[in-house]
Formats: sequence, structure tokens, C-alpha cells
Amino acid sequence: MKAITVKQPGGADQLQITEHAKPEPKDGEILIKVKASAVNRTDIINREKSLGYLDNPILGVEVAGTVEKVGPGSEIEVGTRVMGLVNGGGYAEYVVMPADRAMMIPNHHLSFEEAAAIPEVFLTAYQTLFWIGQLRANETVLIHAGGSGVGTAAIQLAKQIGQANVITTAGSEEKLDFCRSLGADVCINYKEQNFDEEILTITNNQGVDLILDFIGASYWSKNLSSIKVDGRWVLIGILGGANIENVNLMDLMSKRIQLTGTLLTPRSDAYKAALTTEFANKTLDLFANHKLRPIVDQVFPFNQIQQAHEHMENNKNIGKIILKVD
Ligand code: NAP
Repeated sequence: MKAITVKQPGGADQLQITEHAKPEPKDGEILIKVKASAVNRTDIINREKSLGYLDNPILGVEVAGTVEKVGPGSEIEVGTRVMGLVNGGGYAEYVVMPADRAMMIPNHHLSFEEAAAIPEVFLTAYQTLFWIGQLRANETVLIHAGGSGVGTAAIQLAKQIGQANVITTAGSEEKLDFCRSLGADVCINYKEQNFDEEILTITNNQGVDLILDFIGASYWSKNLSSIKVDGRWVLIGILGGANIENVNLMDLMSKRIQLTGTLLTPRSDAYKAALTTEFANKTLDLFANHKLRPIVDQVFPFNQIQQAHEHMENNKNIGKIILKVD
């Protein structure tokens, strides 16, 4: 089968299509004929090899496709349309997935490209809003990078499931308009406004209950100003850097802030299965009746993976960048 691997750690020009043996599903696994995969920041990090959580030379952590073969102990029927997280190997014609992590693709109105836009960003958003962030109805959540894959998923989940007030930030009017169309209540252009000042005005100097923070260092002070006393702050990305100068830990103590960091990719199989099961139970009907929608920015053919990575690295996408495999 054809798959995408990395020649040498480095830029997108290091991506290559290589030939591999088709994997065999083991106990509790299914083999998927991949129709579409999607690009994630973790793939870029793996490509650069500054970090690498998955022991798989083939990139890609999510797929949509059909079940081709079923390993011992799994009951899914061959031919079923499924989507879900894989432990690497998603940028390929075939990949194995633990069967308890496969989600049925809601209905035939959802294409494989749309289905591939769901697992990584919606599961991340669901986990960080509800499992870690403990978002409750009528609370206010600040979702940074509102036009990102995770941001567009989080805005929808916070509105549709969380019944929360959503404040979001993004770097262009186009992205902010899109966030508004997804239901965001307040949209702030971080390049033109100080988001912390705006938030304090909007919330009568109270601040927000929860922050989903993809940015890290460059937003540290403004996030501290924007959060309520007893607020929860979930750190899921460091797009704005990892090192912060002049941190005063007293700021965290005096506001009694709960700051939690998390990464989904290195979590255990059991955790991912439990998260997938709860997410599927709560959301698949909402996808089927279009209350939730996968956001596809652009679909790239398999042999244009380099352009797909560059598109993400240039911050051009709103929602997901899809890789068409079949
Ligand atoms: P994405 O679709 O590539 O979008 C990221 C957006 O963030 C960019 O388009 C850009 O939009 C904005 N951005 C980039 N650098 C920025 C900066 N320095 N300051 C402010 N905004 C910046 O990203 P994604 O795939 O949704 O992922 C979003 C983040 O979540 C990434 O950091 C990713 O690593 C992380 N993530 C974490 C987990 C986890 O488990 N912890 C799981 C999945 C993803 P603008 O035009 O608005 O600037």
C-alpha cells in the first residue's frame, strides 16, 4: 500500500510517498480501507521530529473509511463506514484501529472527507471542555484560535451541548465571521484589540469561567487578566511559545486558578476508547441532524501532502485540512 512518511526530520518538503505492507488487524483491531485522513499539528511536530509520541513511521492520527477486515474479538461488520483516532499510520491506504475506538459515520449525507474532519478536533474539544474543563450551562468560556480545527469544534460543542456563552479570538475578520456563524456570542480580533480588556468590559470585570488555551506563553498575562476567580484554564497548545518570563505564581494562587495541561495523542488506548464512546453517544445524533457539523477547509489529494502541511503552517485554514486517500 501507499503511505506518507518523512525522509529526514524537517520541513514539508521532507514528506514522501512510500510503499508498505498492508497491516494485519490483531486481537481487538479492525483494518480500515482509508478514504480520507486529516492534517493535525501533531503531524507537523512528528515531521519535524522535535517530539514524537507514536511509534509509527507513517504519519496521521485520524481516518474515515470502510472496514476491510476484522481481527479476532471484534464484531464490526466488513464494509461498515467508520471514523476515529489511530495510533499513527493514518496517511495511508490501509490502517489498523482498535475496534472500540471506531465511530459509525452517522449517515450517508456525511462524506468520508467530512467524517475525517471529526475525530481529533471534536474529541479534543469535547475532552477539554467537559472532562477537564467541567463546563456547565450558562458559564462563559473563552476559546482562542476560534478558526482552528479544534476551535471550530469547541465553539459548536460549547453551544450545542454545553449551553454556554462563548467568547472567541481569531486573527482575521473572515475567521471571526465564521466563528459567529457557528454560534460564538462574542468574537474578538486579537490583532486589533486587547482581548483581555474586551473581556473584562463584557463580563463586568468578572472574567470568564473557563479558557481553552492553544496559545500559551504569548497569551499568559492576558489570560490571567481574563479569567475569573476560581476559573479553570486548560492548556492544549503552545502556538505562542512555551517559555514565559517573569511568571508570578502568586497570580495563580490569588485567583485560585485551576490550570491543567493535556495532550490527547499520548493518552492510553483505554482513555481514548472511553472518550470516543461517550463522545459518540452524545454527539452522533447531533451530526446526523446537522446541529453539529464537521468544518472542512480544503481537501488535498494524497500526492499534495506537502501543500496541505504548508497550508496549515501558514495559518490559512478555517477548520480542517483533509487528505483524500482513495
Ligand atoms: P489549526 O487548525 O492549525 O489552527 C491554528 C490557528 O491558531 C491558526 O490558524 C492561527 O489562526 C492561530 N494561531 C497560530 N499561531 C498563533 C499565535 N502565535 N497566536 C495566536 N494565534 C495563533 O490548529 P488545530 O489543529 O485546531 O490545533 C489547535 C491547537 O491545538 C494546536 O496548538 C494543536 O497542537 C493543539 N491541539 C492539542 C491537542 C491536545 O490534546 N493537547 C489536540 C489537538 C490539537 P489566526 O489566523 O486566528 O491567528
